Amino acid sequence: MKDETAEKPYLYEILVILVFAIVITLLMGYLKAFERLIIFFQRYDFITLVDFAVFLPSFLAMGFILFAYHKIEQLQKEIAKTNYLQKELIESDKKYRELSITDDLTHLYNSRHFYNQLKAEISRAVRHKRPLSLAIMDIDNFKQHNDTYGHLEGDNVLSSLGKLINEYLRGVDSGYRYGGEEFALILPDTDIKGAAFVAERMRKGFESLTFSPRPNEKINCTISIGVAQYEPEIELKALINKADKAMYKAKDQGKNKVVLSEA
Ligand code: GH3
Ligand code: MG
Ligand code: MG
Repeated sequence: MKDETAEKPYLYEILVILVFAIVITLLMGYLKAFERLIIFFQRYDFITLVDFAVFLPSFLAMGFILFAYHKIEQLQKEIAKTNYLQKELIESDKKYRELSITDDLTHLYNSRHFYNQLKAEISRAVRHKRPLSLAIMDIDNFKQHNDTYGHLEGDNVLSSLGKLINEYLRGVDSGYRYGGEEFALILPDTDIKGAAFVAERMRKGFESLTFSPRPNEKINCTISIGVAQYEPEIELKALINKADKAMYKAKDQGKNKVVLSEA
């Protein structure tokens, strides 16, 4: 960890000390302290009470000012360090929160975040009387892909789909790894036609990706997508069911398809 307080502003310190020195000199001049000092040394005598009365407050004042300055400087350093640590803490807390809602493999949000966000988006859609759509997608014949090429190669397909979703989504939309090989898109301010457009773009984009699980072998993978629009009064689970049903219909109709849920 870099300690930012280590950088010392020497110029500022020198300036402050210089000002103090000038003030003390003027003060001593005003009190005729220098003449008294010369007289004192010429006398080789005991220090008189008057000498004390003149010198002592000046030196005490100087000592006090330097001490106070030193303390203020220490305090400033402490404050800077505390601010720095606080900033670090906020950053790491943010990172931790982000990690706890993100899926490692696909870099999409995880299913826990999916339910929370869908609930929030439904409330927002109801409040603002705006459309809201949900798309659920599932990779076709993924078990066979895993069995043929191995689990790691399957993971590669999952992470490629995650990357594609992140690339294709618009600013307000969000993508989730909803299950093992099931993904979801929450599309605020989007009716079913708009959602179908987004889903079709995603389906085509994924279909055009080429994987090379073995040397000299090139394959393509596909997804089936079900799309549903939120209707007032229905519950979160009902919306997910609608999109899910549409997705299974796409599977029944031969896979690699987008199917819209009927109202
Ligand atoms: P369908 O076209 O009907 O969807 O058939 P499918 O084979 O894709 O569906 P099924 O539900 O039978 O298989 C899903 C497979 O997804 C089984 C499971 O091993 C695999 N899977 C789930 N999570 C992961 C994962 O994190 N990594 C890998 N490599 N595979 C996973
Ligand atoms: Mg599945
Ligand atoms: Mg599948």
